Formats: sequence, structure tokens, C-alpha cells
Amino acid sequence: MGKINLKSLTMEELEAFIKESGLPVFRAKQILRWIYEKYAVSIHDITELSKDLREGLSEKAYISNFELLNRQLSKDGTEKFLFGLEDGETIESVLIPDEDRLTLCISSQVGCAMACRFCLTGKLGLKRNLEAYEIVDQIIAVNRVVKGDFARGTKFPLRAITNIVLMGMGEPLANFDNVVDALWRITGLMKFSPRRITLSTAGIVPKILELPQRSPMVNLAISLNATTDEVRDYMMPVNKTYPLKILLDACRKFPLPPRRRITFEYVMLKDINDSSEDAKRLIKLLKGIPSKVNLIPFNPYEGSEFERPDDERVLNFQQILLKGNITALIRKSKGQDILAACGQLKARYMA
Ligand code: SF4
Repeated sequence: MGKINLKSLTMEELEAFIKESGLPVFRAKQILRWIYEKYAVSIHDITELSKDLREGLSEKAYISNFELLNRQLSKDGTEKFLFGLEDGETIESVLIPDEDRLTLCISSQVGCAMACRFCLTGKLGLKRNLEAYEIVDQIIAVNRVVKGDFARGTKFPLRAITNIVLMGMGEPLANFDNVVDALWRITGLMKFSPRRITLSTAGIVPKILELPQRSPMVNLAISLNATTDEVRDYMMPVNKTYPLKILLDACRKFPLPPRRRITFEYVMLKDINDSSEDAKRLIKLLKGIPSKVNLIPFNPYEGSEFERPDDERVLNFQQILLKGNITALIRKSKGQDILAACGQLKARYMA
């Protein structure tokens, strides 16, 4: 039998393993603390355990670690990490530094089955779901890099990641159980506030409704991108199953804590969804939903069928929303030169 990866175990599974190994159950908590707070890369790092104990455990268990295959730094400071998984698949995570925050955008699947037309990841198709520990390990791996860089000379203004967004490769709600498990680990074991975590979905309605019952109360973002079913059907095939009315009704039912809002991501595509009529329709669609809109002018990539709208058109769209009392921010695309911007992750390692 192969060795057990301690990172892959839930709290209960780890406790069972520790008991079976003839050890007191409190050892499980110690191990978890070393994995999730001190980022131990091997059982031998856990110096709170005696040397004999570490050697005994190492005979039947280990701690997995991603292989960091590549780091690409954008001119604007955004950094893309390419990680190798144990089965040889690869995923990307993107670190976005701002003045007062360090946001990590993490992946939930290898590839994606949702096939949104404007997205490079969507062109890959789905290879597989990430396990809960693989979702969490992106944070551990990048935090180790950040800590090292910070200690060496403050490349990053902060010593650790402050915010997490599930907006990388994959549709988080299509990998629901593992994502929920990962969110409990991130908030419980890594002690991240759910307020600093945002889950973004293309709109799998039954899972949006199930999320508040199963998961810590993280922020919800909807990748909306259209104001009519005709355009959304074309851009996002998920809309054929869960059209706009059903999606927005689910948002109205979503139990938001006080002062929290749902973020609507709106990738702006020239002559497709960027008209004044679209902006007016959007105001109507969002009626009754505490919301904020992020306008993201499209980042064209080689071979993409869409173009970026003129700045004037983007500003006009924003003004209409603001007049309609909708908070609307224009998001500068980060990391465009390294294909790290929204919808550009593809996890292809180019040496
Ligand atoms: S935008 Fe998100 S949901 Fe759509 S194909 Fe890309 S990764 Fe998947």
C-alpha cells in the first residue's frame, strides 16, 4: 500500500489515522497546525513531534507539495504561478498586489467545462476537478513564496495573502463538495475571514442556493456579462439551463449578511454587450439585489473572436449605471502581458 498524503485527509480522517497509528488524538491537531499555519513541507518539519514519532509516521504517510514550474511577473506587479500536481496536471494561480491587499486568484478545476466564449480556460474543456487540498495548497504554496520574498527584501508590500478569489481556472460550483471542503479548511484551519474570500460562478443556480447552507459565508460574485438571454446564451452556454430570470431570482433569495452585496462581473465586449441599452437593462435586472458591478473591458488574446470596447463606451456604460444608483467600478485588467487577466488562464507551460 502506498503512503497516505496527510494533506488529503479531512480532520476526521486524520484523527482516525492517528488513532489507528496508536497515537493520542491531540496529535492530529498539532499536525494540522503545522500543515496549515506553519506550512510544513515534510513530516520531518513538525518538530513539535519527537524524532522517533516523525520517523514512524514518515514510514506510512507524507505531506504533498506542489511543484512550482514557473513564475511570470507582469509589468504591473501581477504574478502568475504555474504549479505541477502529483498526477502531472498543471494549474495556475494569480497573485495581484495592491497598496493594502494581496489577493490570490485560485483555480478550482483543471480546465473548465462551461465553455464561455470569451474565456481561454473554457477552450481547454474539463480535465478533472481539483481535490480540496489542491485548492487550498495554492494558498500555502504562494504564501511560502511571498514570505520568502518579503524576508529577502520586501518584493511584496505584505508578508502574506490577504484576500482570496475563486476566479481562476474552473467553475467552483461544478466542483461543489471539494470547494466547500476547501472553504472550511481555509477559514477554519488557515483562519482566513470568510469576508475576505469571494467565490465567482457562471451561474449554476441550484448550487448558488445550496451554498449558504453548506459553506462558510463567503462573498458571492456572478459572472453575468450580458443583459439578454439571447446574448448570454451565445456567450455562456450555462444560460441555456439557467437563464437570466432564474439566475437573478436565485440572487434575490441569497441570504446576504448586513452590508454585504453580490458582485456582478461584466466583461465588456465591443458591440456585443456594451451599449447604453445594455446598461439600462442591467439596472432593471439588478433591481432588488444589493449589488455592485465590476466592468471589465475584455482583454483580447491571440485568436479571440471579441474586441475591447473604446474607453468612451466603457465610461458611458458606467455613468448610466451610476445614475441608476448602481455601484459600478471599471476594473483595470491586471497581468495582461502574461495572460494572467480574467479569462486568460490556460496552464500551458512554455519553457
Ligand atoms: S469564464 Fe470561468 S466558468 Fe467560464 S469557461 Fe472560463 S473558467 Fe469556466
